[in-house]
Amino acid sequence: MTAPPIQADLLISGPTLITMDAARRVIEDGAIALSGDRIVAVGKREALEREVQAARRLDGRRFVATPGFVDAHIHITGDPITRGFARGGPEDSWSDKLQRWVIPIFKAQTAEEERIAAQLAALNMIRYGTTAFVEAGTVIQLDAVMEGLAETGIRGRVGRWVEGRAYNPAEPAARVAAAAIGLLEDEVERYPDHGPESRLAAWPLLVGHSTNPDEVWIAAKRLADERGLRVSAHMSPRSGDPEWFLANHGRRPLQHLADIGVLGPNLMLTHLADIDESELDVLARSGAAAIHCPHAALQGGFGVTQIGRFPEMLDRGVPVMLGTDGLAADVLGSARLMASAFRDARRDQELIPPTKMLEMASLDPIRAMGWSEALGSLEIGKKADIVLHDTDLPEWGPVFDPVSQLALSAPASGVHSVWIDGLQVLDAGHATLFDETRLLAQAREAGRAVIARTQLPNRTPWPVS
Ligand SMILES: [Zn+2]
Repeated sequence: MTAPPIQADLLISGPTLITMDAARRVIEDGAIALSGDRIVAVGKREALEREVQAARRLDGRRFVATPGFVDAHIHITGDPITRGFARGGPEDSWSDKLQRWVIPIFKAQTAEEERIAAQLAALNMIRYGTTAFVEAGTVIQLDAVMEGLAETGIRGRVGRWVEGRAYNPAEPAARVAAAAIGLLEDEVERYPDHGPESRLAAWPLLVGHSTNPDEVWIAAKRLADERGLRVSAHMSPRSGDPEWFLANHGRRPLQHLADIGVLGPNLMLTHLADIDESELDVLARSGAAAIHCPHAALQGGFGVTQIGRFPEMLDRGVPVMLGTDGLAADVLGSARLMASAFRDARRDQELIPPTKMLEMASLDPIRAMGWSEALGSLEIGKKADIVLHDTDLPEWGPVFDPVSQLALSAPASGVHSVWIDGLQVLDAGHATLFDETRLLAQAREAGRAVIARTQLPNRTPWPVS
């Protein structure tokens, strides 16, 4: 007696599957079948072509298939439509650049401009195989952004720009903090997170650094505990944060966050370049995740390869996630940069091998976000977040070792097709759910309008006539 056929909407026939399952199986001449938002069959092509009855078949022989990648830290508004604008000059310090250039540009956006920026960021991510992201906590008009993201099909966790510290001594500190907590409560209430079933939801994402008093940190953590969410925040890219925490609390940042009960498995901290040995200890014991944005660290001159402790974090079992910080489009590029930088710094060519690079781009962040049951691998029953990488490109040549070739030498722009929740969002490198050409035109116009409103001069390094 033969088993009844497996019913599917789509059978992708013939790709090499990098499954990322527990055995890390790689299946050559494989096949994968989707039904609704789920994967219903994974295996060898020959068997699945016999066993699966699919409404549509796709010839996938030239592709390597992986689960979707995760960008754990990205500013989806502001930057995407203004990144080409030359901010500040050599005379501006890091904080001058932030206060006089970066923040005014963010705050000058209208709701519509933020919506467009978020869509542009989503398009950029999807084109490089990112199917899920955690936003950096700098969205201003949350409703417009959520509306725009919903049209792109991407999976994301977004938070409003929340700073609860009263900078002006005339401001009542308690009222400023209470207003910030109110914003956090409001956003997680209005955009509830039902785990991987919610494509978009709000998390209490803080700007971090020294912008929040203890009660705001504690409130964000309480919301995350009560609702199964994650808190993220920027911390310690340079010495400024440790200096501020030492001056104000007598403790370094991670020690202080542990003291007030905030450092725990649902906290994710971005940058962490300037941490000392005692902070590494408290971090490793806490279960909190570290997010490394190598483009930001290396371009920003954080000294992360000299004083940073990311290889040690990995050794100690700290969940390390990768972010682009919006400075690059591809998470795989972040993995490459991180591996290269630390291999050089530690003179160890075995550090962060290609297998770990792919895990850090997909499986590890999914686990840190609490989504392993439903995402992170190509397995029966999991949600269909799938990326097809095109090997019909000169950078690939013949495929001998798909894992190493994808991690080390495949072109970042070689993503051909992407499915999120079983829905195809990218086909032959182009968005399927919205008009890309129109979005690019809107983004150019929006970016120019924001900059014009700030009245900041575009100080390009060479004269442009
Ligand atoms: Zn950031």
